[in-house]
Amino acid sequence: MLKTKRITLSLLMVLAASLTLGTSSCTTAEAAQEPQVYICTGPHSKVYHRERNCKGLKKCSASVKKVPLSSINRPACKICAE
Ligand SMILES: [Zn+2]
Repeated sequence: MLKTKRITLSLLMVLAASLTLGTSSCTTAEAAQEPQVYICTGPHSKVYHRERNCKGLKKCSASVKKVPLSSINRPACKICAE
């Protein structure tokens, strides 16, 4: 009886974890942990942002793109990185 309860509990936890991950269930666990950051595609932008509504991004004259952190080679924005 007690054993069954424990299994049900862990099953629920797995379920909750997969729900938290949302639609990215088909990606690997490693990819799911990949942080997504925002970059401005404008010519003057040289940093990446963690916050979509960062003050630095508001100044962006071009479009804002969401990209995996590993795919870019930029330093973090000083306004939203902390
Ligand atoms: Zn920023």
